[in-house]
Amino acid sequence: MDIRSRFGLRPVINASGTMTGLGASSVGAPVIDAVARILPQFVEIDDLQRKASAVIAEACGSEAGYVTASCSAAITLTIAAAMTGDDLGLIERLPDTTGISGLPALRNEVVIQTGHLVNYGAPVDQAIRLSGARVVPVGAATEAHGYQLNTAITERTAAALYVVSHHTVQFGLIPLEEFVAVAHAKGVPVIVDAASEYDLKRFIAAGADLVLYSAHKFLGGLTAGLVAGKKALVRAAYFQNGGIGRGMKVGKEGIAGAIVALEQWRQRDHVAIRARERGYLTLWRETLNRCDGVWAEIDADPTGNPLDRLKLHIDPKVACISAWDLADALARAPEGEAPVIVRDHEAELHFFFLDPCNLHAGEEQIVLARILAELERARVASEPIVTPFHQRDARRLAARRNWPD
Ligand SMILES: *Cc1c(COP(=O)(O)O)cnc(C)c1O
Repeated sequence: MDIRSRFGLRPVINASGTMTGLGASSVGAPVIDAVARILPQFVEIDDLQRKASAVIAEACGSEAGYVTASCSAAITLTIAAAMTGDDLGLIERLPDTTGISGLPALRNEVVIQTGHLVNYGAPVDQAIRLSGARVVPVGAATEAHGYQLNTAITERTAAALYVVSHHTVQFGLIPLEEFVAVAHAKGVPVIVDAASEYDLKRFIAAGADLVLYSAHKFLGGLTAGLVAGKKALVRAAYFQNGGIGRGMKVGKEGIAGAIVALEQWRQRDHVAIRARERGYLTLWRETLNRCDGVWAEIDADPTGNPLDRLKLHIDPKVACISAWDLADALARAPEGEAPVIVRDHEAELHFFFLDPCNLHAGEEQIVLARILAELERARVASEPIVTPFHQRDARRLAARRNWPD
């Protein structure tokens, strides 16, 4: 029996990607087994984290690592580490970074490109500010230069944060290599938020002092974050658990889950999985391109992950439904049909994506059938299903505000 029906939950099909709001990952049996076996036991957490450090260091090509509650927590705690080092007294003083009671003020500024100030479910800048640090934006939304970064870094700068994500502006910004060179020339550590990236080695190899991942995205672990990098900084971040990190702590299950997820990642048959996903994409593209007002193409991941998606353009005049109304109809689902959640954060541009990476076997057919059914429903409807886009946001907000009703 599907546990979801026991809880009265809808059996959603995830064609959207790895989303916190959809339960993040589909966790595999080896991770589940390790988690189930560690849950009843007592362990020495420092030792478990020591083992995790070795596994993360090996996977990322770094000196050390540790597991935290989430990548978002990892941002806050590594920024904290850059401010306090391993001084336990300073760690307990956060988020106060000012020079009170005769204590010296901490370096508390974090430079970040304006085009990297995105929202991944919460604002990046808030994860920085939670530590007590101040955000210093560099450049404009769609243009930043090394000289601007150089000027922004002063004796008050604690760290430089670089975000790798489809959310960020994908052009006109400072490449990582140059970002690292400018920051390092001024003695400032670089932290890379690579939450959703497949490549575990690239950022350390490019000179990042710390790199941060989500354990529950591509890695398929429990909800957790991974920190990898220079030993002194990793240690200083880990020590934040005796300070502001207490409220962001990960349990033994999250640490064990991350260790096994990393082991599984190494053994994963990436080629076979990509070929299976390619099969779904080709099926969807060939079938949907025969529909009026629909144009489908296979689209590479914007940050270079070895993952493609189907980009589905909808011409509302011909298809008689807008991209966003189609996405909403798929998510709503008529009685007895499976709700399909698509990747629609750019729907106002008249397209959305189908992400194959979280589908269970057979669901690719359900996704296709549901889209064909909704297109047909729109084709025979008395009026085009094209609601004003701006009302969609209001509708969604209103629904959110009603929770738990
Ligand atoms: C998902 C994401 C985060 C947050 O990761 P969590 O582990 O879910 O807290 C941070 N940054 C980026 C770029 C993300 O995609």
